[in-house]
Amino acid sequence: MQDSQSSQQLSQAIAIASPLPRKSRQARVVWRNNVVTVGGDAPVRVQSMTNTDTVDAVETAIQVRQLAQAGSEMVRITVNTPEAAAAVPYIREQLDRMGEYVPLVGDFHYNGHRLLTDYPDCAQALSKYRINPGNVGKGDKKDKQFGQMIEIAAKYDKAVRIGVNWGSLDQEIMADLMDQNSRREKPWETRQVMYEALITSAISSAELARNIGLNPDNIILSCKVSGVQDLISVYRELARRCDYALHLGLTEAGMGTKGTVASAAALSVLLQEGIGDTIRVSLTPQPGEARTQEVVVASEILQALGLRVFVPSVTACPGCGRTTSTTFQELAKKIDDFLRGEMPVWRTQFPGVEAMKVAVMGCIVNGPGESKHADIGISLPGNGEAPAAPVFIDGEKALTLRGEHIAEEFQTLVLEYVQRRYGQKA
Ligand code: SF4
Repeated sequence: MQDSQSSQQLSQAIAIASPLPRKSRQARVVWRNNVVTVGGDAPVRVQSMTNTDTVDAVETAIQVRQLAQAGSEMVRITVNTPEAAAAVPYIREQLDRMGEYVPLVGDFHYNGHRLLTDYPDCAQALSKYRINPGNVGKGDKKDKQFGQMIEIAAKYDKAVRIGVNWGSLDQEIMADLMDQNSRREKPWETRQVMYEALITSAISSAELARNIGLNPDNIILSCKVSGVQDLISVYRELARRCDYALHLGLTEAGMGTKGTVASAAALSVLLQEGIGDTIRVSLTPQPGEARTQEVVVASEILQALGLRVFVPSVTACPGCGRTTSTTFQELAKKIDDFLRGEMPVWRTQFPGVEAMKVAVMGCIVNGPGESKHADIGISLPGNGEAPAAPVFIDGEKALTLRGEHIAEEFQTLVLEYVQRRYGQKA
């Protein structure tokens, strides 16, 4: 029995896991020469959102640039007042002056129809509008005000994200579906009705936008909720029912580890199933934490799934009783910070460097082996080992570092390796 099992296993190679292909139509978000395609065969895009007061055009432009340099391919800004709408063209101008052509997305609620009408320069400076159908008006005004925004988007050929959120779900749709549910022989659970309301709101709003004249290729949909299983349930069904490009994100993901893990769990399941064309990780920054952390986490999720590469990866062991000093932890952190810090410049100077693999290991057990798998790696001495750190380059032992300045010397070796391997050949 065992023999036949093992020969059966040998006759068939183990399948290599990979995300399923995405099937959405492709949208384009454009500013000047920077065309960000979303959906279809385009890479899954990273988005982020500022938390500055949009009225402060300088602060907002600075934060947009930081987010873009961290890897955000579109940046959303709040447009909530006439003053904020008036500031948008200045924010755009400052970014253009800095050579930062990242597309800006305007986030509108309640008064977007008025702001986009009264501030045409704002309407033109934005590359995409985010419209929440639950917050465009009530009763008769709902379709009229939504229509006003869509007409402006169509006039300027802007992309629109119809972004439904369970915290601001269209109550008329929800009430209607609850009413229908009460007449079912076996009523659905309330959260199943909520799923249906989210999807109905998104798809019916998209159909209305098309009827008004918006190019279907300019439509992106999202249905955000804050529960992992809820998000998976909603997006599976949303992807089944339409072919618009989809923006994924767990709304109000929370702080720190909780927000990071919940976002990674939800987004990974969906991305692996070929669902999702852009992502945002809605982290609440911890006191003192940079806003760019949400971009770092979003990029890491895509990189971990093998969908994108943004920054060279650092493989570091967790450490154990064999290495009780903090030297290797400090070195791993230092190298990681160094690589991230250099990427805005390296991205243009050293094409392909983002795929580089660096290893920083704590002792001889896995150190040399893991370092050999990396492009460049170092195996630090564990407890009781000779105070020497062999460095491996392209799988071969290249030299051994000793003494007080191992960290600095290894950093120099990494830089030299990058210049040598990824530098533009004249
Ligand atoms: S490489 Fe060495 S120090 Fe690091 S976890 Fe493994 S045994 Fe521990």
